[in-house]
Amino acid sequence: MIYQQLGDVKVSQLGMGNMRLPTTGEGGAIDQARARAILEHAYENGVNYFDTAYRYHGGQSELFVGRVLNELPRDSWYLASKMPGHMMRYDHGRLSFVGYLAGEKVRTVEEIFQEQLEKCQVDYFDFYLLHNVCETSYDFYTNEDLGVVDYLLEQKRKGRIRHLGFSSHGRPETIERFLNWRDCFEFAQIQLNYLDWSLQQAKEKYDLLTRRNIPVVVMEPCRGGRLANLDDKIAAPLKQARPEASLASWAFRFLQALPNVKVVLSGMTTMEQLTDNLKNFLVPCPMQAQEAKLLETVVSALVSQVPCTGCRYCCEECPQGLDIPRLIALYNEMSYEPTPGLNAALGALTDKQHPANCVGCGACKRICPQGIDIPALMQSLAQAIAKRS
Ligand code: SF4
Ligand code: SF4
Repeated sequence: MIYQQLGDVKVSQLGMGNMRLPTTGEGGAIDQARARAILEHAYENGVNYFDTAYRYHGGQSELFVGRVLNELPRDSWYLASKMPGHMMRYDHGRLSFVGYLAGEKVRTVEEIFQEQLEKCQVDYFDFYLLHNVCETSYDFYTNEDLGVVDYLLEQKRKGRIRHLGFSSHGRPETIERFLNWRDCFEFAQIQLNYLDWSLQQAKEKYDLLTRRNIPVVVMEPCRGGRLANLDDKIAAPLKQARPEASLASWAFRFLQALPNVKVVLSGMTTMEQLTDNLKNFLVPCPMQAQEAKLLETVVSALVSQVPCTGCRYCCEECPQGLDIPRLIALYNEMSYEPTPGLNAALGALTDKQHPANCVGCGACKRICPQGIDIPALMQSLAQAIAKRS
């Protein structure tokens, strides 16, 4: 197993995500025997980083992980969990739950944190995260009256959190704004894989975090399994280059070439997935530049993207002040597959930022070095957004 320094501990580069444990049926309870066998096999083969969250598996994941890990020496594993602030709101002094927590009895941040410690049967979390800092959760996490981060920093001082971080499906500019608000986070978890490198601006997020000396924990390295199950035609160049290698290994080796990636979380549902993943983390085998070129062909086959380079020349010309490259990034993402992160970003567009504000003057198109028909694209994006609502 490859180990990496994260804060003051050495963590296994392959981490076990506990959001997709085997269940007794579609959406059913965790299959305790199979899930236990996977977790124990991961541990026996060197995995020491285990990630869960308040509501994974309807709240059962924390209970399961806590139960199994506590049969093992406490200093031989690291547990990460998350505050579900992305599903909470604070308005006029009142807390409420939204999304998948809507309808549940509202608890305070303090009550939730205490409940998590008890469910996981631990006195402290090795790693604790604000869950999904994004456009829709930003106000909750940064509300000074509520003081979520202050409370968690206090727990850190008391030794109940060893390392404080955050996860995010937000846009790079939202993450940057958040880091400018508070500079106290020791790690960040983002969705990062070779498809989202450009599609979800993961490169910008990775570069931003690296510039700020914040280590990266990766989630969705295979984009929910899609990159491990490519269509035969799309996968052909990869199979030709490395006939014995699994498709997942390409995704993992892409990440191993990024030095600031410390942990790669994989939600492993079967023993076969775990066994294959373990093979890819025995020794470092980072992707070489010419292999990365092959991945570009895969990405082009998966999604045809508008080739904006983010130079921002167009922004200087736009009389409406539109952030054109940002809107193009949303357009690209939308044309592939809607995600919760995309929905949050679209929902957070103000009237002034909306592509419907484009007046079709064409000043942007005249200056764009890539020859992108920006006015037409703004129109299509505005129509697509209108259709969704
Ligand atoms: S065409 Fe639209 S996006 Fe382009 S400069 Fe004019 S208003 Fe801005
Ligand atoms: S000028 Fe063209 S390439 Fe540059 S940011 Fe604007 S749309 Fe993208």
